[in-house]
Amino acid sequence: MAARIIDGKQVAHDIRAELKKETAQLKEQGIVPGLGVILVGEDPASQSYVTAKERACAETGLYSDDNRLPADTTQADLVALIQNMNADPKIHGILVQLPLPKHLNEAEALLTIDPAKDVDGFHPVNVGRMVLGEKAFLPCTPHGVIQLLARSGVTIAGAHAVVVGRSNIVGKPLANMLLQKKENANATVTVCHTGTADIAYHTRQADIVIVAAGRPNTLTADMVKDGATVIDVGVNRVEDASRKSGFRLVGDVDFEAIKDKASLITPVPGGVGPMTIAMLLYNTVESAKRAMA
Ligand code: NAP
Repeated sequence: MAARIIDGKQVAHDIRAELKKETAQLKEQGIVPGLGVILVGEDPASQSYVTAKERACAETGLYSDDNRLPADTTQADLVALIQNMNADPKIHGILVQLPLPKHLNEAEALLTIDPAKDVDGFHPVNVGRMVLGEKAFLPCTPHGVIQLLARSGVTIAGAHAVVVGRSNIVGKPLANMLLQKKENANATVTVCHTGTADIAYHTRQADIVIVAAGRPNTLTADMVKDGATVIDVGVNRVEDASRKSGFRLVGDVDFEAIKDKASLITPVPGGVGPMTIAMLLYNTVESAKRAMA
């Protein structure tokens, strides 16, 4: 059976359209949701991520405050800028694009962000609230995965979900979100990583497999049961001489083989990727609404 392909671009487009409406309503009440963006240095990938986020803000009606700082920016200057944004009522969300140059202390920078403006959901206060099941800003990529599942009609409650990967930005928060006794959650969750003895043993039992390992073909067809839902978070560059760029993007999942076995699957690109920015906008609008309340 050929799987239904989950169109992440369309789902992200729908969410952004909802947010555009909400933003227009907020504007009528005198509030423009604002995102403060900080990029240090000239890493090309980070530059293109930040440009995409700012473009998405503009298209959705959000204000963005663009701060591109030189690579030799000091920790003191970075912290001072974050503190200014914490105090600025026009800014409802603060985004420090990671990774920061090596001489800067990333943990200290993230701790400086007011948890009420931590729209990336990386501050320990928000991580703690999420784990406790309290109201929190949820990290954007894992929240995007939950939204993709829910909006594709996948029942998470009662499902066995296997997450491959345990990073602080994807695997761990995603496993925690799936585990919550809440709507769009309440799954039985298994987390696999490089220390797992037999990953296939776990993934073969999964109703939902989510792979965030950062390695092509981490999930192959023999590791998936018939009819499973497969979500591919991975983004990897592989050489491709037929492309002008010399490479193409692939996920962590053997898409071609698994699409004939799964019932639902996300492509790369066009699956989870577009959801991350949509959920960043969602958190910023949410923060603006909380600031009004
Ligand atoms: P990461 O920090 O490198 O973590 C990778 C995790 O996968 C680690 O927990 C690692 O296990 C595990 N892992 C690696 N190889 C494995 C294997 N062969 N078998 C089992 N587990 C394995 O990566 P990340 O930041 O979570 O990102 C994961 C992927 O998602 C990357 O391709 C990244 O580019 C992509 N990503 C995409 C988006 C998006 O918007 N679409 C956002 C974020 C990340 P250990 O803990 O044991 O080392």
